[in-house]
Amino acid sequence: MVSLTFYGGANEIGGNKILLEDKGVRIYLDFGQSFGFGEDFFYEYLAPRKANGLEVFFEFDMLPRTPRLYSEDLLKLTDLKYQKPDVDAVLISHPHADHIGHLGFLDEGIPVYMGHGAHRITEVYHDLYPALSDIGEHKDIRLFGSGDILKIGHLKVQPIHVDHSIPGAYGFIIHTSKGPVVYTGDFRIHGPRADMSEEFTKQATAAKPRALLCEGTRMAYEPPHNYSEAEVEQKSSQLIKASKGLVLAYFSMSNIDRFMCFYNAAKKNNRVLVLGTRLAYIIRSMKDKIKVLPDVMTDKNIAVYFRICKSCTFNEKDYFVWEREFMPRMVTYKDVSKNPRKYVMHLGFYGLMELVYLQPKDADFIYSMSEHFYEGDDNEEQRTVWENWMKHFGIRFHQVHSSGHASESDILSFIKQLNPRTTIPIHTNSPDAFEKAGCEIVKPQKGETLEI
Ligand SMILES: [Zn+2]
Ligand SMILES: [Zn+2]
Repeated sequence: MVSLTFYGGANEIGGNKILLEDKGVRIYLDFGQSFGFGEDFFYEYLAPRKANGLEVFFEFDMLPRTPRLYSEDLLKLTDLKYQKPDVDAVLISHPHADHIGHLGFLDEGIPVYMGHGAHRITEVYHDLYPALSDIGEHKDIRLFGSGDILKIGHLKVQPIHVDHSIPGAYGFIIHTSKGPVVYTGDFRIHGPRADMSEEFTKQATAAKPRALLCEGTRMAYEPPHNYSEAEVEQKSSQLIKASKGLVLAYFSMSNIDRFMCFYNAAKKNNRVLVLGTRLAYIIRSMKDKIKVLPDVMTDKNIAVYFRICKSCTFNEKDYFVWEREFMPRMVTYKDVSKNPRKYVMHLGFYGLMELVYLQPKDADFIYSMSEHFYEGDDNEEQRTVWENWMKHFGIRFHQVHSSGHASESDILSFIKQLNPRTTIPIHTNSPDAFEKAGCEIVKPQKGETLEI
């Protein structure tokens, strides 16, 4: 008997935490944090402190009370007695927080498998945001590449790269005693590395899957525009060309494809892409893994923005040690405001304060993040603040984005091609929309176990 228990990722977008058990072998498919995690009980400073362990989360049923899973330290004040873990592996599909966010709770001895690129990203984010991005002190991290075969007990697992909005994304084919189980992780077909998703599709089809755990972020949801990554680059380039002033752009710092779009679009229009020091650090740290990335230290179409600090003199003592290496590439608000048409500048919500110093005239802002984020009801307060800043400085606002997730029609043809005996919708708010695939759909519930 093979069983699947859904501790997260059922009837929700993200939070994947799925236990697969087969003849005594136990593996978790991702160990992520749900997007709304804690919002019912925590508010601003009403949140767990360093001294708190898992007792806080158990109190509100926010984490499963599963023995032999969590680290000894975090169980001290709970009613779960610490025992050696009985989990054989945690397989990480990719390094987004909704897939890795709870790794820090796990017993340090449990083997965690992830791709080389994924591991690099977790390290870089930990350097930059030690308090926010912490996967724990795992003693046994095992790195894989596409095409490797992982042997976990009697299970054979094939990780195969897929295209998503972050590097180091994989789907898995898990060969169980009841036949192959395919897990998509998060993926898309319309991205610049569609070839990787096609390879995954081909191999998953050839495996003749018994069950398919398929992400459905965009089921029953179509964004206003269905741009490919190439179209994002093209549209951004047109906007940059037409702009009479500074162009500001906001995109996720872990989205390397999007970085390349803006880099190429800036270069095409003879502008310099200005990165904050954190983004510069990420791009520099990923360079040896992703060869197409430009060299932040020498590329003439890249500059690094240093914010004004205490001394107002841009003295190196004002900045973190890791930031100082970018000082030879420094531009400040003075450079950018003197010659705004020379630059395209990455600027997020928490960087808007820079506009006070930049005093842009005739500027354009290209918002290149998920429409969910900007249009969702939850973000209303933030959106109003954003809009006020745009209005105050007379900045024209544009939205250009390409999703990291496959469209509904791509998901339906993916399922048809794989032709699994059972399809299990995960990472979706619309499991019913999978019925359109016309095959057996089994909808999981949180905390429930399915047998295959
Ligand atoms: Zn996800
Ligand atoms: Zn993701």
